[in-house]
Amino acid sequence: MESLISLVNKIQRACTALGDHGEGSALPTLWDSLPAIAVVGGQSSGKSSVLESVVGKDFLPRGSGIVTRRPLVLQLHKLDEGSREYAEFLHLPRKRFTDFAAVRKEISDETDRETGRTKQISSVPIHLSIYSPNVVNLTLIDLPGLTKVAVEGQPDSIVQDIENMVRSYIEKPNCIILAISPANQDLATSDAIKISREVDPTGERTFGVLTKIDLMDKGTDAVDILEGKSYRLKYPWFGVVNRSQADINKNVDMIAARRRERDYFSTTPEYKHLGHRMGSEHLAKMLSKHLENVIKSKIPGIQSLISKTLIELETELSRLGKPIATDAGGKLYMIMEICRLFDQNYKEHLDGVRAGGDKIHNVFDNQLPTALKRLQFDKQLSMENIRKLITEADGYQPHLIAPEQGYRRLIESSVVSMRGPAEAAVDAVHALLKELVHKAISETPELKQYPALRVEVGNAAVESLERMRETSRKATLQLVDMECAYLTVDFFRKLPQDVEKGGNPTVSLFDRYNDGYLRRIGSTVLSYVNMVCASLRNSIPKSIVHCQVREAKRSLLDHFFTELGKLDVRKHLFSLLPYFIQLLIPWPSVQQKYLSSLLNEDPAVMERRTQLAKRLELYRSAQAEIDNVAWSK
Ligand code: GDP
Ligand code: MG
Repeated sequence: MESLISLVNKIQRACTALGDHGEGSALPTLWDSLPAIAVVGGQSSGKSSVLESVVGKDFLPRGSGIVTRRPLVLQLHKLDEGSREYAEFLHLPRKRFTDFAAVRKEISDETDRETGRTKQISSVPIHLSIYSPNVVNLTLIDLPGLTKVAVEGQPDSIVQDIENMVRSYIEKPNCIILAISPANQDLATSDAIKISREVDPTGERTFGVLTKIDLMDKGTDAVDILEGKSYRLKYPWFGVVNRSQADINKNVDMIAARRRERDYFSTTPEYKHLGHRMGSEHLAKMLSKHLENVIKSKIPGIQSLISKTLIELETELSRLGKPIATDAGGKLYMIMEICRLFDQNYKEHLDGVRAGGDKIHNVFDNQLPTALKRLQFDKQLSMENIRKLITEADGYQPHLIAPEQGYRRLIESSVVSMRGPAEAAVDAVHALLKELVHKAISETPELKQYPALRVEVGNAAVESLERMRETSRKATLQLVDMECAYLTVDFFRKLPQDVEKGGNPTVSLFDRYNDGYLRRIGSTVLSYVNMVCASLRNSIPKSIVHCQVREAKRSLLDHFFTELGKLDVRKHLFSLLPYFIQLLIPWPSVQQKYLSSLLNEDPAVMERRTQLAKRLELYRSAQAEIDNVAWSK
């Protein structure tokens, strides 16, 4: 079993860690890859004896009559070299058996516990695990013998019950069947052959084993059977000579029994020519060779599963993003880096690489002009309003030449109303810039990973925008106020004479406030206001871009960085303090905590990443191991 052991060890290192401990792994476990080996046959045909010699260990109750009355599912577990061998029953957890005679006794006691001391059988299996450096991970199943008739104390259904139970084990496709027939009975009556042919008609997984060759009638031999002439199987027949009941009673050990068996086949003239492929040792060797082939045939499947899983793991890992740095410097760097990515995305929106910046232009090109147009200066400059403002401005003494004060008031009252559209434009651009912050955040996957940082960056950006809006509002309204503060003298100087007549002293006092006079004043004011409006339409966008858009592009996160920087400066100052004082002040931990809190990930994500990374590593080493096995084929 040496080569099988080393092959299985390699695959085991690969698969067992993944399959058996990889919680819910898609990989087949080694138990799945390795077939179970079950012995079937009639009562006392030598099943338990054969199983024992395959394992190379005495531990099963054997004897005449119906000894195996419950299935025994025996799991062999490979231990590291040098470990102590022991056995454990599922029904006696934590009790370690190191004496295999005690194991045998416990099997028969446990059988009795379930069935009573009668000759009843039970389909409830006994689970026994053997841990040893000298075995491979393998499942062996010892089954009750098939019978033809119920004996005293047994129900009539027992024949069928046993058959059904045996069938339920050996019909599984990964079960290798050791079909045991005793040589001292007619092969035609062999229950083993009958039932194994039923579940494995092509003989793909059936090994015919002939026992008790030493007990044959004098003058008869098993040569025809062993040569496959009596009954042909896919694999050659195996002949064995197990220990007789007398040997068992005399405690003949396995090594002595093997030697005797070897001698038997090499000295009995009939079997001399078959000698090299007779005996338990040969059976064990062939069985492990077969297992090896079965296992190797599964390697490509395991390989492709591993690489598929590797890809899945890598994809999920990269979706989860990089893990957090552990030191403060690394964290700071990481935060800056993420902020830079965000800033980059934000700028790309404004620069037209990404959509959204064009909406700002729409404010200048559409919203602002429309709002200015809606101001309806002609209403402001209605006859009554002009008359009212001019007379009010004149006060107790009507103007002499031109209604200077009246003009100013009329113009001022119209221009002031432009503050509204100016402020609205500031707000509209602010709203768009804010919207882009959210867009850029959602387009920065690194921020998705750290919800706390996302909130902080979002808040910092919005706060910056708020400050910029304030500056922009002041500057933009100032543009409007400036228009009120100082009128363009040239405009009035260039007025045609007839308009100037509005102030002609030769016009009689009674004509002064007539409709024509007022209308002329109105149209002069309107054309001046329109001129101002056109100029503000040009200058307001400039002010807004200067104060908000350009600033946002330039310094959206500056304030945030400054705050972070202060942390670092403080840390530097801290490091200048004497060491024993440093020990007393928990400052770095405060900083660490703040940075950590910014990079606080969803704990579930962190957990998942650690898990994935661990699995990834396991799968990578598994891949290497398996490739190794595949190449050494
Ligand atoms: P099982 O009921 O099929 O499990 O058969 P056991 O392994 O318990 O064997 C039944 C009896 O046959 C035991 O007393 C064995 O010692 C004996 N026996 C099994 N195989 C051989 C054999 O090849 N030669 C001899 N002489 N006795 C055997
Ligand atoms: Mg038995």
